[in-house]
Amino acid sequence: MKKLILKTLQSTVQGDVFSQKEFRKFYSVDASSYQIIPELVVVPKNEKDVVNVINIARKFKTSVTVRGAGTGLVGSALNNGIILEMKNFDSIRLAKDYVTIGPGTIKGKLDKKLEEYKKFFPPNPSIGSFCSIGGMLGSNSSGSRSLKYGSVIDNVIEITFIDGNGNKITLPKDKRVAKKIREFSKKIDRNNFPNVTKNSSGYRIDKVKSINDAHKVFIGSEGTLGVILSAKLKIKDIPRKRILFVIEYKTIKNAIKNCIEINKTKPSAIEFVDKTILNQIKFKFDGKTKCLLFIEYDDKINSNEKKIKLIITGKIIKKLKKDSDIFRWWKYRDSSLHYSLKSIKKEKIIPHAIEDATVPLENLQKLFSVLDEINKKYRTRSVVYGHAGNGNIHVRLISDRKRIPNIKNIAIQYFNEVIKLGGTITGEHGDGLARSEFVKRQYGAKNYQIFKQIKKFFDPKNVLNPDKIITKKSMIVKNLESFLVV
Ligand SMILES: Cc1cc2nc3c(=O)[nH]c(=O)nc-3n(C[C@H](O)[C@H](O)[C@H](O)COP(=O)(O)OP(=O)(O)OC[C@H]3O[C@@H](n4cnc5c(N)ncnc54)[C@H](O)[C@@H]3O)c2cc1C
Repeated sequence: MKKLILKTLQSTVQGDVFSQKEFRKFYSVDASSYQIIPELVVVPKNEKDVVNVINIARKFKTSVTVRGAGTGLVGSALNNGIILEMKNFDSIRLAKDYVTIGPGTIKGKLDKKLEEYKKFFPPNPSIGSFCSIGGMLGSNSSGSRSLKYGSVIDNVIEITFIDGNGNKITLPKDKRVAKKIREFSKKIDRNNFPNVTKNSSGYRIDKVKSINDAHKVFIGSEGTLGVILSAKLKIKDIPRKRILFVIEYKTIKNAIKNCIEINKTKPSAIEFVDKTILNQIKFKFDGKTKCLLFIEYDDKINSNEKKIKLIITGKIIKKLKKDSDIFRWWKYRDSSLHYSLKSIKKEKIIPHAIEDATVPLENLQKLFSVLDEINKKYRTRSVVYGHAGNGNIHVRLISDRKRIPNIKNIAIQYFNEVIKLGGTITGEHGDGLARSEFVKRQYGAKNYQIFKQIKKFFDPKNVLNPDKIITKKSMIVKNLESFLVV
């Protein structure tokens, strides 16, 4: 069968088709803890290739999983059928307030191009220039400045994609499809959607308030509804000035309490790093410092400086106005994942399924308490950093490798509490292999049923990235074999 698919693809597709072990292995991993070796890898040359691959996959009852740069943290781009590598789709066309872009474009290339015109695309994942636009759209990525500018979903005007039937659709332009999506959105139980400022779980049908929003259901859909061929993204003028404060606190409780007051002054970012991370920064902090907040403003610099000085309960250790200084300190914050891994012995790192929950800011302190309970119960330790202003914390658990089967129990306990706090199980990284089995728990049976209808509408044969978002399987502790080899 595999030979027949290979032959059919090779004779149909103008791009490259790979079946060699080395290529399949390369595409079997991303930045998550998982590994799944695909059957084949296709690098389409054009739109027709994408349509052909999807139609061939449907005919041969295999799957198509589209991949960006593979920096995803929960295995969203891993699957066992055909992997679609979109690097040839890397066009950039600039207009005054938007850019039309191919999904294979690496974010760093877009940033450079926009900088020439003093513009920027606001979502800024800490991975920086390495991720692709397709992956950002597929995950509904965010970053530190999403506090002011929103996630990817808030910054997209239009998308063009090929669905699981092989049809090319542009949303919200295609009124027939847009109306259908709006109908789905009218049926949802909004009370069961989390009350947060960023959310990458499930299908974001809650964002579709009119047919003009129809494209939003695709943002964060992890390649399960269609393969995006191009997107029109909103762009903004680069702020003329910024100011960054780095503030040390003696307790996490005080820092988080202070976040609520600081947030009222509308900064562009409020970020948090804990003691383990700050210990890696080359600076002499007070020995009693337990955590830092990074607070940035990119407008009304003087008045905001006055305001923040009145409400800060920690100690300002840096007030930075020069671009190069601001860049250097943001680099410390953006290296948190690297620092946390560096600080843990390899045999103590365990897969990170609970790394990305987000709760309403007023409940963030309670989320830290939930984490304390988990650490006590499972004898784990945690490294924490993240986008505190959005109530979004990234958690790395440290434990003995022998405890790995407990990850599912930890996830169940943590996610139940996150949902009770009005939060989402993932604010940025998506459901992927780690969290898709919890999507029903997150949204309730009624909304999950609507998600299934949306999936069926765009991909009735379940060709596109199966078992992500909609699944009956439990994948959270499967496919970790390569990770567990120390
Ligand atoms: C060190 C580090 C820091 C990070 N920091 C952040 C952060 O601050 N904020 C944040 O949000 N994320 C962060 N991430 C997660 C990740 O980098 C981002 O979500 C990133 O945008 C994923 O892009 P990618 O190109 O690597 O996507 P991939 O991992 O390749 O794919 C991600 C998903 O997008 C889908 N996809 C890819 N292309 C398409 C397409 N053309 N059409 C439809 N679907 C598509 C894939 O199928 C998959 O489901 C971080 C990751 C690392 C390793």
